[in-house]
Amino acid sequence: MGYTRHDLAEMKLNDIKGIGPSLLEKAKAAGLESVDDLLNYYPRRYLDRTRQVSIGELFPGEQATIYATVEAISTRRMKNRKTMVEGIVSDETSRVKITFFNQPWRAKQLKVGTQAAFFGKMDEYRGQPQIVNPVVDIIKEDEESDKTGSIIPIYPQSTKADLSTWNVRTIIKEVIKYAQDLDEILEPAVLEELKLIKRSQSYKNIHQPESEEDARQAARRLRFDEFLMLQMVLIGRYLKHEKYFKSQKLSEDFLERTYLKSLPFELTNSQLLAIEEIDSDLDALNPAHRLLQGDVGSGKTVVAFAATLRAVGSGAQSVIMAPTEVLVKQHYKNARLSFEGLTIKDETNLLGSRPVNVEMLSNSTSSQDRDRIEKMVENGTCDVLITTHALLYNEWEFSNLALVIIDEQHRFGVEQRSQLLSRGGLTPHMIVMSATPIPRTAAMLYFGDLKNTVMTDMPKGRKPVETKIARTNKEVDSAYARIREEVKAGRQAYVVCALVSDSEKVQATSAVAHVDELRNNQLSGLKLGLVHGQMSSEDKEIIMAEFGSGKIDVLVSTTVIEVGVDVPNASVMVVEDADRFGLSQLHQLRGRVGRGSDNAYCYLLTSKETISAQNRLEAMETTNDGFELAEIDLELRGAGHILGGIQSGQGDLKLGRLPRDSKYVQFAYDVAMQKLTNDPSMESKENSVLAIEMSAFVDSNEIEFLFKS
Ligand code: ADP
Ligand code: MG
Repeated sequence: MGYTRHDLAEMKLNDIKGIGPSLLEKAKAAGLESVDDLLNYYPRRYLDRTRQVSIGELFPGEQATIYATVEAISTRRMKNRKTMVEGIVSDETSRVKITFFNQPWRAKQLKVGTQAAFFGKMDEYRGQPQIVNPVVDIIKEDEESDKTGSIIPIYPQSTKADLSTWNVRTIIKEVIKYAQDLDEILEPAVLEELKLIKRSQSYKNIHQPESEEDARQAARRLRFDEFLMLQMVLIGRYLKHEKYFKSQKLSEDFLERTYLKSLPFELTNSQLLAIEEIDSDLDALNPAHRLLQGDVGSGKTVVAFAATLRAVGSGAQSVIMAPTEVLVKQHYKNARLSFEGLTIKDETNLLGSRPVNVEMLSNSTSSQDRDRIEKMVENGTCDVLITTHALLYNEWEFSNLALVIIDEQHRFGVEQRSQLLSRGGLTPHMIVMSATPIPRTAAMLYFGDLKNTVMTDMPKGRKPVETKIARTNKEVDSAYARIREEVKAGRQAYVVCALVSDSEKVQATSAVAHVDELRNNQLSGLKLGLVHGQMSSEDKEIIMAEFGSGKIDVLVSTTVIEVGVDVPNASVMVVEDADRFGLSQLHQLRGRVGRGSDNAYCYLLTSKETISAQNRLEAMETTNDGFELAEIDLELRGAGHILGGIQSGQGDLKLGRLPRDSKYVQFAYDVAMQKLTNDPSMESKENSVLAIEMSAFVDSNEIEFLFKS
């Protein structure tokens, strides 16, 4: 028997010989206290000394990395009061001047004797060769005899702790031997099939590689383990739900059918399919647990209402949860209209039936209403409750809650889920709706415990929103001219203000100024309304209602125009400084128009854009397909951004990244599924190490939930 990672986490650096007190102090400040911490503190990248260029070989104009020692360093203050740090560095072949502008800390960083890699372009200034503002990686602070191989790991620079890359290397030298005895968690056949190296070897190779290939192999293995841990948790949850939780079987579909028949349009194939899948989920004792993805405007609300009415018709209560008041109000209004005339059995009533009761709860609900609704929730007469997340903080006891639908939400933790239990301990069916299309592998990574339905069809007659980038004054003018034209034709428009700041206050001020500007110039004579995040929800609601009823022609807003807002008569959108917005945000915004049958337009205003902003804007011009855009976004920015920085709860992925590692997500999924299907409570010998490590590294409540019955 060797070590588990749990053993290594118990091994504190204090107890390891050869690590001095000042080094210990620094490591602690960086949050590194155990051998396991250190081994999992990976290099950010590597320098390959075999690719270095000698100073003597450098040509003016050439970009290269040199490895050199600082011979002299000094700071000068220039006439404009800015600082200039100048130094001389040398290697065996020659010496060269380095100059840093406005980086006063360099003088302290690059003490005489420091060895570092300098990457930059060799220039000539007044006949003297120099490198201006090179990228610096310090290798050693002074000339201790610390032999590093030809591949030098560079560790992340911690801002709060003064733990240098050579400090980490020194500690690693003392602890790396423990990795050698780390037990394996994957069977030999799996290692072979996935071409992964042993994990004991991978720790050695990620910290002390002999070649770049070594380091790559090591990272592959450790990355796989990260994904495996995540999938073990997700699939654990999934199987647990399948097996141990009981829900109510919702079989009565009369109300649902009546509602669907009453719709003034034909359902899309995607809607039909989603309804069918959800129906069969609900018509079972296992709690449904499904992610319903559909692009903005794909008609998810109809699907949600159908499910709700199946629950109501079967005598149970439903909750629809939305992230903002505006959305809650919109759903409420919509539900009141849609459910009008629908009745359910009621023996206490003379007629033997009563109308379906829909109630709404938000932060602005009066305490009187709140009390009234609470009573109805508890005695079962509130059939459908539409609410913001406020509900999660009430400890209301539903009489017979059987379905929870979460709209426009990426993720709910288990804790939050389990708060909404019904009396009698039944788990409600759960449907999570997302309007942000999530690429398949990203969905597996974060939603692996949910079944997935993707709606790809859009309602008939919907035309793609014609999208144009407007860069020149002339193009901007024609964007506003389009607004005037559309308004003249009886339609409406949005103007989304520039993201000037993260502060809501600053945003609001600038939006107020912008409305004035538009009112006096480009949009004079039109009826403008303004919403921003600093307004009270009543004021917001008034403006939204006026826009909804057509009293306002143009709604100027900060990004608070909520996802999901539905005003089909709006046909143009202008986004100011569109280059400041992310791709999925732009797509969400654009989804506000093109909801009616008229041609719709979106203008993306930009004056100065980076390459990546240009890529985003051009992607918007090329396609209206949310999934395609999501893939592009994933390519451009990685998964974290798309999912809005959602954390897995099991520690962040350190090495894993999408879409690069999509394949690993699938592998990890397969391996985890196999392990947990064969050994649901992780009791077998072959899973013993993994079971111990999960208990050590996964939140204890989660473990309790997953593996104890
Ligand atoms: P989202 O999926 O973004 O939540 P909504 O449910 O708000 O979309 O639907 C957008 C609009 O499309 C609504 O006005 C809705 O009434 C309408 N709609 C939904 N399904 C259809 C359909 N099959 N045919 C035509 N219009 C539809
Ligand atoms: Mg919606």
